[in-house]
Amino acid sequence: MSDIKCIGCGATIQTDNINKKGYIDKKVLENKKDEFYCKRCFDLKHYNKESKIQTTLDEYLKNLQSIKKDKGLIVYIVDTFDFEGSLIYNINDIVNSNNILLVLNKIDLYLDSLNRNKIKSYVLKYLKEKNIKIKDIMLMSSFNDNDIKDLFDKIKELHNNKNVYFVGMTNVGKSTIVNKIIKMFTGEEDIITVSNTLNTTLENIYIPLNEECFLVDTPGLLNRNNLIYFLDKKTLDYITPKKYVKPRTFQLDPKQTLFVQGFVRIDFIEGERSSFVANVSNNVLVHRTKLENATEFYEKHKDDILLYPNKSEREKLGNFVTKKVKFSKDNKIDIAISGLGFVTVYGTGYLNITYFNNVKVIIRKAMI
Ligand code: GDP
Repeated sequence: MSDIKCIGCGATIQTDNINKKGYIDKKVLENKKDEFYCKRCFDLKHYNKESKIQTTLDEYLKNLQSIKKDKGLIVYIVDTFDFEGSLIYNINDIVNSNNILLVLNKIDLYLDSLNRNKIKSYVLKYLKEKNIKIKDIMLMSSFNDNDIKDLFDKIKELHNNKNVYFVGMTNVGKSTIVNKIIKMFTGEEDIITVSNTLNTTLENIYIPLNEECFLVDTPGLLNRNNLIYFLDKKTLDYITPKKYVKPRTFQLDPKQTLFVQGFVRIDFIEGERSSFVANVSNNVLVHRTKLENATEFYEKHKDDILLYPNKSEREKLGNFVTKKVKFSKDNKIDIAISGLGFVTVYGTGYLNITYFNNVKVIIRKAMI
Protein backbone atom coordinates (compact mmCIF):
# COMPACT_ATOMS: atom_id res chain seq x y z
CA MET A 1 0.00 0.00 0.00
CA SER A 2 1.15 3.52 -0.74
CA ASP A 3 -0.11 6.83 0.56
CA ILE A 4 -0.69 8.18 -2.92
CA LYS A 5 -4.37 8.86 -3.69
CA CYS A 6 -6.20 8.70 -7.00
CA ILE A 7 -7.24 12.26 -7.85
CA GLY A 8 -10.39 10.96 -9.57
CA CYS A 9 -12.00 8.98 -6.73
CA GLY A 10 -9.78 9.46 -3.68
CA ALA A 11 -8.89 5.75 -3.34
CA THR A 12 -5.40 4.86 -2.09
CA ILE A 13 -3.31 3.72 -5.04
CA GLN A 14 -2.33 0.00 -4.98
CA THR A 15 -0.74 -2.34 -7.51
CA ASP A 16 -1.81 -5.75 -6.12
CA ASN A 17 -5.43 -6.40 -7.03
CA ILE A 18 -7.11 -5.21 -10.22
CA ASN A 19 -10.56 -5.92 -8.74
CA LYS A 20 -10.04 -3.66 -5.73
CA LYS A 21 -10.26 0.10 -5.63
CA GLY A 22 -7.19 2.22 -6.33
CA TYR A 23 -5.54 -0.33 -8.64
CA ILE A 24 -2.90 0.92 -11.02
CA ASP A 25 -0.46 -1.16 -13.11
CA LYS A 26 3.04 -1.24 -11.56
CA LYS A 27 4.66 -0.01 -14.76
CA VAL A 28 2.18 2.84 -15.10
CA LEU A 29 2.83 3.84 -11.50
CA GLU A 30 6.60 3.91 -12.07
CA ASN A 31 6.22 6.24 -15.02
CA LYS A 32 3.84 8.68 -13.34
CA LYS A 33 5.14 11.74 -11.59
CA ASP A 34 2.69 13.70 -9.51
CA GLU A 35 -0.84 13.09 -10.79
CA PHE A 36 -2.52 9.73 -10.30
CA TYR A 37 -5.74 8.32 -11.67
CA CYS A 38 -6.39 4.70 -10.70
CA LYS A 39 -7.16 2.30 -13.57
CA ARG A 40 -10.88 2.46 -12.87
CA CYS A 41 -11.04 6.27 -13.06
CA PHE A 42 -8.73 6.28 -16.07
CA ASP A 43 -11.04 3.85 -17.87
CA LEU A 44 -14.15 5.76 -16.84
CA LYS A 45 -12.70 9.04 -18.09
CA HIS A 46 -11.25 7.75 -21.33
CA TYR A 47 -13.44 4.85 -22.39
CA ASN A 48 -16.54 5.26 -20.23
CA LYS A 49 -16.14 1.62 -19.12
CA GLU A 50 -18.40 0.12 -16.53
CA SER A 51 -16.99 -0.51 -13.08
CA LYS A 52 -18.21 -2.97 -10.47
CA ILE A 53 -16.23 -1.71 -7.49
CA GLN A 54 -18.38 -0.15 -4.77
CA THR A 55 -18.04 1.38 -1.34
CA THR A 56 -19.52 -0.80 1.40
CA LEU A 57 -22.10 0.51 3.87
CA ASP A 58 -19.58 0.08 6.70
CA GLU A 59 -17.10 2.29 4.93
CA TYR A 60 -19.82 4.84 4.30
CA LEU A 61 -21.00 5.02 7.91
CA LYS A 62 -17.46 5.24 9.22
CA ASN A 63 -16.92 8.12 6.90
CA LEU A 64 -20.03 10.00 8.03
CA GLN A 65 -18.96 9.77 11.66
CA SER A 66 -15.91 11.81 10.89
CA ILE A 67 -18.14 14.44 9.26
CA LYS A 68 -20.41 14.63 12.30
CA LYS A 69 -17.47 15.57 14.53
CA ASP A 70 -16.66 18.50 12.31
CA LYS A 71 -19.02 21.50 12.43
CA GLY A 72 -18.67 22.20 8.72
CA LEU A 73 -21.30 23.12 6.14
CA ILE A 74 -23.13 20.15 4.61
CA VAL A 75 -24.13 20.64 0.99
CA TYR A 76 -26.76 17.92 0.78
CA ILE A 77 -27.63 17.20 -2.85
CA VAL A 78 -30.79 15.42 -4.02
CA ASP A 79 -32.11 14.70 -7.50
CA THR A 80 -35.42 16.55 -8.08
CA PHE A 81 -36.33 14.01 -10.71
CA ASP A 82 -36.02 11.18 -8.17
CA PHE A 83 -36.80 13.20 -5.06
CA GLU A 84 -38.05 10.54 -2.61
CA GLY A 85 -35.61 8.00 -4.04
CA SER A 86 -32.57 10.21 -3.51
CA LEU A 87 -33.42 11.48 -0.02
CA ILE A 88 -31.38 10.28 2.94
CA TYR A 89 -34.22 10.04 5.45
CA ASN A 90 -32.06 10.03 8.56
CA ILE A 91 -29.87 12.95 7.45
CA ASN A 92 -30.65 14.76 10.71
CA ASP A 93 -29.26 11.81 12.72
CA ILE A 94 -26.15 11.77 10.62
CA VAL A 95 -25.27 15.45 10.53
CA ASN A 96 -26.26 18.61 12.38
CA SER A 97 -29.39 20.16 10.82
CA ASN A 98 -28.18 23.73 11.45
CA ASN A 99 -25.50 23.21 8.89
CA ILE A 100 -27.43 21.70 5.99
CA LEU A 101 -27.81 23.46 2.66
CA LEU A 102 -30.26 21.36 0.66
CA VAL A 103 -29.56 21.45 -3.06
CA LEU A 104 -32.32 20.23 -5.38
CA ASN A 105 -30.38 19.32 -8.50
CA LYS A 106 -31.26 18.35 -12.11
CA ILE A 107 -33.96 21.01 -12.31
CA ASP A 108 -33.16 21.28 -16.05
CA LEU A 109 -35.13 18.06 -16.56
CA TYR A 110 -38.31 20.06 -16.00
CA LEU A 111 -39.33 22.02 -19.04
CA ASP A 112 -41.32 24.79 -17.46
CA SER A 113 -39.49 27.28 -15.23
CA LEU A 114 -42.82 27.89 -13.45
CA ASN A 115 -42.50 24.41 -12.07
CA ARG A 116 -39.52 25.47 -9.99
CA ASN A 117 -41.73 27.19 -7.45
CA LYS A 118 -44.11 24.27 -7.32
CA ILE A 119 -41.24 21.88 -6.75
CA LYS A 120 -39.80 24.07 -4.02
CA SER A 121 -43.11 24.30 -2.14
CA TYR A 122 -43.67 20.57 -2.57
CA VAL A 123 -40.25 19.86 -1.04
CA LEU A 124 -40.65 22.32 1.84
CA LYS A 125 -44.02 20.82 2.73
CA TYR A 126 -42.57 17.33 2.51
CA LEU A 127 -39.62 18.18 4.77
CA LYS A 128 -41.98 19.70 7.32
CA GLU A 129 -44.16 16.58 7.35
CA LYS A 130 -41.15 14.31 7.81
CA ASN A 131 -39.57 16.67 10.35
CA ILE A 132 -36.39 16.98 8.33
CA LYS A 133 -34.63 20.21 9.28
CA ILE A 134 -32.31 22.24 7.09
CA LYS A 135 -30.68 25.66 7.13
CA ASP A 136 -31.28 26.71 3.53
CA ILE A 137 -32.50 25.36 0.20
CA MET A 138 -31.72 26.00 -3.45
CA LEU A 139 -32.82 24.63 -6.80
CA MET A 140 -30.27 24.23 -9.56
CA SER A 141 -28.89 22.38 -12.50
CA SER A 142 -25.23 21.48 -12.52
CA PHE A 143 -25.26 22.14 -16.26
CA ASN A 144 -26.16 25.80 -15.72
CA ASP A 145 -23.15 28.02 -14.96
CA ASN A 146 -25.27 30.72 -13.32
CA ASP A 147 -26.69 28.14 -10.93
CA ILE A 148 -23.19 26.94 -10.10
CA LYS A 149 -22.15 30.53 -9.46
CA ASP A 150 -25.17 31.00 -7.14
CA LEU A 151 -24.23 27.84 -5.25
CA PHE A 152 -20.63 29.00 -5.00
CA ASP A 153 -21.78 32.33 -3.53
CA LYS A 154 -24.17 30.59 -1.15
CA ILE A 155 -21.38 28.30 0.09
CA LYS A 156 -19.13 31.28 0.71
CA GLU A 157 -21.93 33.00 2.61
CA LEU A 158 -22.75 29.99 4.81
CA HIS A 159 -19.59 28.02 5.47
CA ASN A 160 -18.27 30.31 8.19
CA ASN A 161 -14.69 29.43 7.40
CA LYS A 162 -15.29 25.74 8.13
CA ASN A 163 -14.99 22.66 5.87
CA VAL A 164 -17.66 22.18 3.21
CA TYR A 165 -18.92 18.59 2.80
CA PHE A 166 -20.80 17.45 -0.29
CA VAL A 167 -23.16 14.64 0.70
CA GLY A 168 -25.79 12.71 -1.28
CA MET A 169 -26.93 9.41 -2.73
CA THR A 170 -25.09 8.15 -5.80
CA ASN A 171 -25.99 9.67 -9.14
CA VAL A 172 -27.52 12.92 -7.86
CA GLY A 173 -24.82 14.93 -9.68
CA LYS A 174 -22.50 15.50 -6.75
CA SER A 175 -19.21 14.99 -8.60
CA THR A 176 -20.36 17.20 -11.45
CA ILE A 177 -21.14 20.00 -9.01
CA VAL A 178 -17.92 19.58 -7.04
CA ASN A 179 -15.84 19.63 -10.24
CA LYS A 180 -17.45 22.88 -11.31
CA ILE A 181 -17.01 24.46 -7.90
CA ILE A 182 -13.33 23.43 -7.91
CA LYS A 183 -12.97 24.96 -11.34
CA MET A 184 -14.35 28.23 -9.96
CA PHE A 185 -11.85 28.18 -7.12
CA THR A 186 -8.79 26.87 -8.91
CA GLY A 187 -9.33 26.94 -12.68
CA GLU A 188 -8.70 23.15 -12.86
CA GLU A 189 -11.09 21.07 -15.00
CA ASP A 190 -12.72 17.68 -14.36
CA ILE A 191 -10.52 16.55 -11.50
CA ILE A 192 -13.11 14.18 -10.09
CA THR A 193 -14.51 11.29 -12.14
CA VAL A 194 -18.14 11.67 -13.28
CA SER A 195 -20.21 8.87 -14.76
CA ASN A 196 -23.63 7.33 -14.51
CA THR A 197 -22.23 4.12 -13.05
CA LEU A 198 -22.52 3.58 -9.32
CA ASN A 199 -20.33 5.16 -6.66
CA THR A 200 -17.90 7.03 -8.80
CA THR A 201 -16.35 8.60 -5.70
CA LEU A 202 -14.93 5.99 -3.28
CA GLU A 203 -13.35 7.93 -0.42
CA ASN A 204 -13.41 11.52 0.78
CA ILE A 205 -11.57 13.81 -1.57
CA TYR A 206 -10.16 16.95 0.06
CA ILE A 207 -9.67 20.06 -2.03
CA PRO A 208 -8.14 23.09 -0.28
CA LEU A 209 -10.61 25.97 -0.17
CA ASN A 210 -8.30 28.39 1.58
CA GLU A 211 -5.55 28.15 4.19
CA GLU A 212 -7.90 26.84 6.87
CA CYS A 213 -10.53 24.66 5.25
CA PHE A 214 -11.38 22.15 2.54
CA LEU A 215 -14.09 21.24 0.10
CA VAL A 216 -14.77 17.56 0.74
CA ASP A 217 -16.42 15.29 -1.81
CA THR A 218 -17.78 12.27 0.11
CA PRO A 219 -18.73 8.89 -1.44
CA GLY A 220 -22.37 8.64 -2.55
CA LEU A 221 -24.65 6.47 -0.47
CA LEU A 222 -25.77 3.62 -2.66
CA ASN A 223 -29.52 3.58 -3.21
CA ARG A 224 -30.51 -0.07 -3.37
CA ASN A 225 -34.10 0.69 -4.38
CA ASN A 226 -33.17 2.73 -7.42
CA LEU A 227 -33.24 1.13 -10.87
CA ILE A 228 -29.66 2.28 -11.36
CA TYR A 229 -28.55 -0.40 -8.92
CA PHE A 230 -29.88 -3.21 -11.12
CA LEU A 231 -29.37 -2.08 -14.70
CA ASP A 232 -26.55 -2.54 -17.20
CA LYS A 233 -24.76 0.52 -18.47
CA LYS A 234 -26.42 0.27 -21.89
CA THR A 235 -29.91 0.28 -20.35
CA LEU A 236 -28.98 3.10 -17.99
CA ASP A 237 -27.66 5.26 -20.80
CA TYR A 238 -30.96 4.64 -22.57
CA ILE A 239 -33.35 5.47 -19.74
CA THR A 240 -31.44 8.35 -18.09
CA PRO A 241 -32.73 11.69 -19.35
CA LYS A 242 -29.94 13.92 -20.62
CA LYS A 243 -32.01 17.03 -21.32
CA TYR A 244 -35.47 18.31 -20.41
CA VAL A 245 -38.17 15.73 -20.29
CA LYS A 246 -41.07 16.40 -22.61
CA PRO A 247 -44.21 15.35 -20.74
CA ARG A 248 -46.27 12.95 -22.89
CA THR A 249 -50.03 12.82 -22.32
CA PHE A 250 -52.24 9.78 -22.89
CA GLN A 251 -56.01 9.87 -22.49
CA LEU A 252 -57.06 6.48 -21.20
CA ASP A 253 -60.41 4.80 -20.82
CA PRO A 254 -60.99 2.21 -18.13
CA LYS A 255 -59.86 -1.28 -19.20
CA GLN A 256 -56.75 0.11 -20.83
CA THR A 257 -53.14 -0.44 -19.76
CA LEU A 258 -50.03 1.69 -20.01
CA PHE A 259 -46.57 0.11 -20.04
CA VAL A 260 -43.54 2.23 -19.25
CA GLN A 261 -41.04 0.17 -21.22
CA GLY A 262 -41.09 -3.17 -19.32
CA PHE A 263 -40.52 -1.48 -15.95
CA VAL A 264 -44.04 -0.67 -14.85
CA ARG A 265 -47.52 -1.65 -15.92
CA ILE A 266 -50.43 0.64 -15.05
CA ASP A 267 -53.86 -0.94 -15.43
CA PHE A 268 -56.79 1.48 -15.45
CA ILE A 269 -59.41 -0.74 -13.84
CA GLU A 270 -62.42 1.49 -13.29
CA GLY A 271 -63.38 5.16 -13.50
CA GLU A 272 -63.91 7.99 -15.97
CA ARG A 273 -61.70 8.77 -18.98
CA SER A 274 -58.52 10.20 -17.42
CA SER A 275 -55.15 11.75 -18.34
CA PHE A 276 -51.84 10.01 -17.78
CA VAL A 277 -48.79 12.25 -18.23
CA ALA A 278 -45.49 10.40 -18.53
CA ASN A 279 -42.47 12.36 -17.25
CA VAL A 280 -39.74 9.95 -18.30
CA SER A 281 -36.80 10.30 -20.67
CA ASN A 282 -37.90 11.10 -24.22
CA ASN A 283 -36.30 7.80 -25.30
CA VAL A 284 -38.42 5.68 -23.00
CA LEU A 285 -41.29 3.83 -24.63
CA VAL A 286 -44.74 4.43 -23.16
CA HIS A 287 -47.09 1.91 -24.73
CA ARG A 288 -50.89 1.71 -24.48
CA THR A 289 -52.77 -1.56 -24.89
CA LYS A 290 -56.09 -3.13 -23.91
CA LEU A 291 -56.14 -4.39 -20.34
CA GLU A 292 -57.44 -7.80 -21.45
CA ASN A 293 -54.42 -8.27 -23.75
CA ALA A 294 -51.80 -6.77 -21.42
CA THR A 295 -50.47 -9.97 -19.82
CA GLU A 296 -50.13 -11.71 -23.17
CA PHE A 297 -48.55 -8.58 -24.68
CA TYR A 298 -45.98 -8.44 -21.92
CA GLU A 299 -45.01 -12.11 -22.26
CA LYS A 300 -44.75 -11.88 -26.04
CA HIS A 301 -42.96 -8.55 -26.29
CA LYS A 302 -40.87 -8.09 -23.16
CA ASP A 303 -37.69 -8.66 -25.18
CA ASP A 304 -38.55 -6.81 -28.41
CA ILE A 305 -41.11 -3.98 -28.20
CA LEU A 306 -40.73 -3.36 -24.46
CA LEU A 307 -37.03 -4.30 -24.69
CA TYR A 308 -35.85 -3.07 -21.25
CA PRO A 309 -35.21 -4.39 -18.64
CA ASN A 310 -33.43 -7.34 -20.27
CA LYS A 311 -33.58 -10.91 -18.97
CA SER A 312 -30.65 -10.73 -16.56
CA GLU A 313 -31.83 -7.35 -15.25
CA ARG A 314 -35.32 -8.77 -14.66
CA GLU A 315 -33.84 -11.55 -12.56
CA LYS A 316 -32.12 -8.98 -10.35
CA LEU A 317 -35.20 -6.77 -10.13
CA GLY A 318 -37.18 -9.52 -8.40
CA ASN A 319 -40.83 -10.56 -8.55
CA PHE A 320 -43.79 -8.48 -9.60
CA VAL A 321 -45.93 -6.80 -6.97
CA THR A 322 -49.22 -5.04 -7.60
CA LYS A 323 -50.49 -2.00 -5.73
CA LYS A 324 -54.10 -0.78 -5.92
CA VAL A 325 -54.34 3.01 -6.06
CA LYS A 326 -57.30 5.42 -6.06
CA PHE A 327 -57.24 8.86 -7.65
CA SER A 328 -59.80 11.63 -8.02
CA LYS A 329 -60.22 15.15 -9.41
CA ASP A 330 -59.03 16.71 -6.16
CA ASN A 331 -56.35 14.07 -5.60
CA LYS A 332 -54.04 14.25 -8.58
CA ILE A 333 -51.27 11.67 -8.06
CA ASP A 334 -47.78 10.82 -9.28
CA ILE A 335 -46.56 7.29 -9.67
CA ALA A 336 -42.83 7.84 -9.10
CA ILE A 337 -40.42 5.09 -10.12
CA SER A 338 -36.98 5.58 -8.57
CA GLY A 339 -34.44 6.03 -11.35
CA LEU A 340 -36.96 6.29 -14.18
CA GLY A 341 -39.26 9.29 -13.59
CA PHE A 342 -42.97 9.60 -12.83
CA VAL A 343 -46.45 9.38 -14.34
CA THR A 344 -49.01 11.96 -13.22
CA VAL A 345 -52.65 10.83 -13.22
CA TYR A 346 -55.63 13.23 -13.35
CA GLY A 347 -59.25 12.14 -13.36
CA THR A 348 -61.26 9.67 -11.33
CA GLY A 349 -60.92 5.96 -10.79
CA TYR A 350 -58.61 3.28 -9.55
CA LEU A 351 -55.51 1.60 -10.90
CA ASN A 352 -53.52 -1.54 -10.40
CA ILE A 353 -49.84 -0.73 -10.65
CA THR A 354 -47.46 -3.65 -11.23
CA TYR A 355 -43.70 -3.32 -10.79
CA PHE A 356 -40.60 -5.21 -9.64
CA ASN A 357 -40.42 -5.55 -5.86
CA ASN A 358 -36.76 -4.48 -5.58
CA VAL A 359 -37.47 -1.01 -6.98
CA LYS A 360 -39.02 1.83 -5.03
CA VAL A 361 -42.35 2.98 -6.48
CA ILE A 362 -43.98 5.81 -4.59
CA ILE A 363 -47.51 7.11 -4.95
CA ARG A 364 -47.54 10.77 -3.95
CA LYS A 365 -49.70 13.83 -4.31
CA ALA A 366 -48.69 15.27 -7.69
CA MET A 367 -45.49 17.32 -7.44
CA ILE A 368 -46.32 19.76 -10.27
P1 GDP B 1 -22.69 11.53 -8.33
O1 GDP B 1 -22.77 10.02 -8.33
O2 GDP B 1 -23.71 12.12 -7.40
O3 GDP B 1 -21.32 12.07 -8.10
O4 GDP B 1 -23.18 12.01 -9.77
P2 GDP B 1 -22.36 12.44 -11.07
O5 GDP B 1 -21.87 13.84 -10.95
O6 GDP B 1 -21.38 11.36 -11.39
O7 GDP B 1 -23.56 12.46 -12.13
C1 GDP B 1 -24.42 11.34 -12.35
C2 GDP B 1 -25.15 11.51 -13.69
O8 GDP B 1 -26.09 12.60 -13.61
C3 GDP B 1 -24.23 11.83 -14.87
O9 GDP B 1 -24.74 11.17 -16.01
C4 GDP B 1 -24.36 13.36 -15.01
O10 GDP B 1 -24.09 13.82 -16.31
C5 GDP B 1 -25.81 13.57 -14.63
N1 GDP B 1 -26.08 14.91 -14.07
C6 GDP B 1 -25.37 15.55 -13.11
N2 GDP B 1 -25.91 16.76 -12.84
C7 GDP B 1 -27.00 16.90 -13.63
C8 GDP B 1 -27.99 17.94 -13.81
O11 GDP B 1 -28.00 19.00 -13.17
N3 GDP B 1 -28.96 17.68 -14.75
C9 GDP B 1 -29.02 16.51 -15.45
N4 GDP B 1 -29.99 16.38 -16.35
N5 GDP B 1 -28.12 15.51 -15.29
C10 GDP B 1 -27.11 15.71 -14.41
